[in-house]
Amino acid sequence: MKDRHLFFALEKSYGPKLLVIGGMHGNEHSGPEAMQRVATQLRQNPEKFHGSVYFILGNLKALERNERFVDVDLNRIWRDDLIRDASDAKQYDFKELAEIHELIENICQGQYKDCILLDLHTFSADSGLFCIPAENPSSEKLARSFGVPYIEKLARSLPETALNYYGEKGMTSVVFEGGKHNTAEATDNLERAIWITLEQTGIIRAGDFPFVEQMKTHLERISRNLPHRLEMVYRHKLEDYHHYRMNEGYYNFKSVKQGEPVARQNGREVISPFGGFMLMPLYQTKGSDGFFIVQERGSRRKNKA
Ligand SMILES: [Zn+2]
Repeated sequence: MKDRHLFFALEKSYGPKLLVIGGMHGNEHSGPEAMQRVATQLRQNPEKFHGSVYFILGNLKALERNERFVDVDLNRIWRDDLIRDASDAKQYDFKELAEIHELIENICQGQYKDCILLDLHTFSADSGLFCIPAENPSSEKLARSFGVPYIEKLARSLPETALNYYGEKGMTSVVFEGGKHNTAEATDNLERAIWITLEQTGIIRAGDFPFVEQMKTHLERISRNLPHRLEMVYRHKLEDYHHYRMNEGYYNFKSVKQGEPVARQNGREVISPFGGFMLMPLYQTKGSDGFFIVQERGSRRKNKA
């Protein structure tokens, strides 16, 4: 199978098919680097992999330019009508959308339940890795296996992502947010996420790659003091014309009080309507979400008490 987005493939006639996407956002190079590392092992030990593995590069032109996207965010346009009309679209990123979609369709052949999507990302805040499952049981099960915080009910606020698009088709789909953009730590964490997924899906056996156990222990250790099962209660959506600036000092899982001023927008203070934990505070110029507030599952704080 040849395709300019297909960075590496190991195809087997049996077993599940793991699709890993890196660089959906062009300013996030840790995903492609992590895929490169795992591909080296795949080349050396193909007999130890009991299923197919595809490493897919996301927004090629944006990666070249080291920008999040060219005209529109490639991870906010995964919708059937947009994909159908992508070849007529004036904005460049639709071309990439059409190509990646075609590649994934060729791999999965409509058998979405045999496929697993792991979409690798990083963020602009300083710390706090996490993952986001699509809203189906197999995705939530995979998300729990990493030992890092996972955010439920977030996928539904990001409807036009690949995560949601394939999750709704029944594919096991998880976004893994490995750390701050282009740091060694983020690349290491994304590599760990790929190995753990390979093991969880049965493509590799624990005994063949003993280091995977250490990777799990490492992720559990660095997430030890963080809440684990969370749900999204608020999304601060931005439109293009908004002048938006996050106040200094926020990072993932920093606790936030209801009514706390967290940013400035169009000259006005932005307050958090809920208490909970900060997620993905926007410290870069391009982005469609200012921040999210998440709460631990089972906490009652969202009822503005
Ligand atoms: Zn991203």
